[in-house]
Amino acid sequence: MTPELAAALAVSPFTKLGLSAPLARAVFEEHYTEPSPVQIEVIPHALQGRDVVACAQTGTGKTAAFVLPMLQHLAATNAPCIRGLILTPTRELAAQVADRVHVYGHHLDIRHAVIYGGVSQYRQEIALRSSPHLIVATPGRLLDLIQQRLIDLAGITHFVLDEADRMLDMGFVQDVRRIVAMIPAVRQTLFFSATMPPAVESLARNMLIDPVRVRISPATTTAPTVTQSVVFVAKADKRALLEEVLRDETIHRALVFTRTKHGANRLSEQLDRAGIGSAAIHGNKTQGARERALDSFRRGATRVLVATDVAARGIDVEGISLVVNFDLPNVAESYVHRIGRTGRAGAAGRAISFCDRDERAFLADIERLIRHRLPVTGNQDPVEAAAPPSPPPRPRPRPMPARSGPGPRFRCA
Ligand code: AMP
Repeated sequence: MTPELAAALAVSPFTKLGLSAPLARAVFEEHYTEPSPVQIEVIPHALQGRDVVACAQTGTGKTAAFVLPMLQHLAATNAPCIRGLILTPTRELAAQVADRVHVYGHHLDIRHAVIYGGVSQYRQEIALRSSPHLIVATPGRLLDLIQQRLIDLAGITHFVLDEADRMLDMGFVQDVRRIVAMIPAVRQTLFFSATMPPAVESLARNMLIDPVRVRISPATTTAPTVTQSVVFVAKADKRALLEEVLRDETIHRALVFTRTKHGANRLSEQLDRAGIGSAAIHGNKTQGARERALDSFRRGATRVLVATDVAARGIDVEGISLVVNFDLPNVAESYVHRIGRTGRAGAAGRAISFCDRDERAFLADIERLIRHRLPVTGNQDPVEAAAPPSPPPRPRPRPMPARSGPGPRFRCA
């Protein structure tokens, strides 16, 4: 280490949080200059060994908030068994967390393995033979490997549950309980969730001891760096509108959400035919196909990724400047998760939601959740805009309260 680097690390705000030089150096090399609020709140308590329950959504820097202290604890007693376990709901998230473990642990002698289903077990078995100190896993494959006696959780001292609300949504609660029952009761637990509905609270109560509570940017809030708008548009006109939006060449990476897997495939094919290169990512694709699509999106070879909510969970791609809700989500919280993919780490982002006549109720749910109305772009009259081109005569709708927003850009009706 050069004297300059040592001097920089000595005054690094990450060092001031209590992180050791190898970890402060790794984040320095990642060009993180300041810890994010969730890191400021969580890291010192986690380093002291306290249990933490943190309400923080993706994009807040939550991964570093649990990975950094875990690595520091594991490096302090370099015992040759699995002592750290990070559970995530999806394989994409597991892969991304493992990538962060690799990056942040670069200057430490900590081995890790990543365990998830949907791929052959073989490579994971090889990784397990190298006696990892830390495992990042999804619940199903982890339980499989425990049953096959390839993994033993009896040595776990540090446990993280990431995206607990997603775990519950995806029906993993029993799996999580089974896994927790196999971990020694004397351990540190860091519990992360974007939202805290009662079922998640109750799960937390059962697995944490006197936790420190941290609440950062609850899922009802959207990042101020994301400019949001809604366009009232007839279903039949959505595709043309999307093409118009995506022809803007200043958009380098756009993520487009559809409600169904079939819709994602169809839309991606239609975009390709219109000369807008895209890839679709959803649960019916093989893990290999998903990884290839994500990789191409990350590298910038594919400008547009069309995704369903489940497939998009955990997508951590930098530089997404636009999120389009081609279909509005029928679960309001998904809106917050979706648009959280842009406007990350202080960068500016844009989120445009297409709303047709059948989706008005979804829009109302979203606006209730985020506690503000979305500015309307284009036609201010939702029913007029979302109507078919030659609508049969019908009574005038109740007018919407006035909305403010950027000037008309799209012609939607
Ligand atoms: P996460 O919420 O963990 O998904 O992190 C969101 C993004 O923020 C990731 O790309 C991280 O690499 C990045 N990040 C995490 N902490 C910081 C930080 N202190 N400064 C800048 N970027 C960060």
